[in-house]
Amino acid sequence: MILGIECTAHTFGIGIVHRGKILANVKDMYKTEKGGIVPIKSAEHHREVAERLYIEALRKSEINEKDIEAIALSNAPGLAPCLLEGLRFAREKARKLGIKIIPVNHCIAHLEIGQSIGAKDPILLYVSGANTQIIAFAGEKYRVFGETLDIGVGNFLDKFARHIGCGFPGGPFIEELARHAKEENMIYIELPYVVKGMDVSFSGLLTKLQQLFDSGIDAGQLSYSLQETAFAMLVEAAERAIAHTGKKELVLGGGVACNKRLQEMCKIMCFERKAKFFCPAKELLTDNGAMIAYTGEIMLNAGISVNFDKLDIKPRERTDEVEVRWK
Ligand code: AMP
Ligand code: MG
Repeated sequence: MILGIECTAHTFGIGIVHRGKILANVKDMYKTEKGGIVPIKSAEHHREVAERLYIEALRKSEINEKDIEAIALSNAPGLAPCLLEGLRFAREKARKLGIKIIPVNHCIAHLEIGQSIGAKDPILLYVSGANTQIIAFAGEKYRVFGETLDIGVGNFLDKFARHIGCGFPGGPFIEELARHAKEENMIYIELPYVVKGMDVSFSGLLTKLQQLFDSGIDAGQLSYSLQETAFAMLVEAAERAIAHTGKKELVLGGGVACNKRLQEMCKIMCFERKAKFFCPAKELLTDNGAMIAYTGEIMLNAGISVNFDKLDIKPRERTDEVEVRWK
């Protein structure tokens, strides 16, 4: 049994995995009334919910804590105060149980969990609040083939949503507005489309959208046009990564991947490319402890673990810095 802890940003999650099977996956998300994440507050949230979730995960999976073989911890990348809180909790448990810790890179976990639904060697389109990356395994490492040059696509959606008076998270509001606009046959408005090689950029698009909204254009029509433009950029970059690497699978990850229109566009692209499309269930798409436990188990099977007192956090670890000894 591997117990996984997710703690990198707003979500504190605990998952329990045994031989690739997910036995529990519980989480609690730090939310704000207004504005974005305050790292210290999010860390306080993690501290408050950790023990409760730990007990809940053990109960759900019907195991005793003595059955835990090792603890997988998302020690990178992320917000330092949140990572430290996860580290503190993981250390406390590892010391008490006399077991080791497996340090897991959060972005790679989003990719590895794709295996639980059948992906073998995929391209990951990882679209979350802070991260927007296209990742794949090549030349002994997980490499970033493309990424945002400024803000993450989720933050972009949230910023526009805030501008038009919607709360956080903004993505689901925009999806709803866009769906209605489509049903009402609203016309697509041409917007800046920025793909540079396999990288994307959203800040110019955001400014344009804000200006159009301020000039009186309908929020629904803008949301619809926004989705068609921003998602087409992501899908183009992902398609180019597929073409470049010759890989035949695409996996989605991150909160924005919950968006049905993005899923649909990915599906169409994969169909046209004769690639397989994998979209994990919502609870595995968004930040969660099960993907950390799942990845941790694979790593442990390859002999990777450290003593709890040797482990540190790596807030800025890049995906391609991780030494991949388990493949
Ligand atoms: P994450 O950082 O992976 O937890 O994802 C959070 C981001 O996902 C936020 O920016 C949300 O606005 C965004 N998000 C959540 N649901 C949706 C959705 N249905 N459509 C678009 N974005 C979404
Ligand atoms: Mg994430």
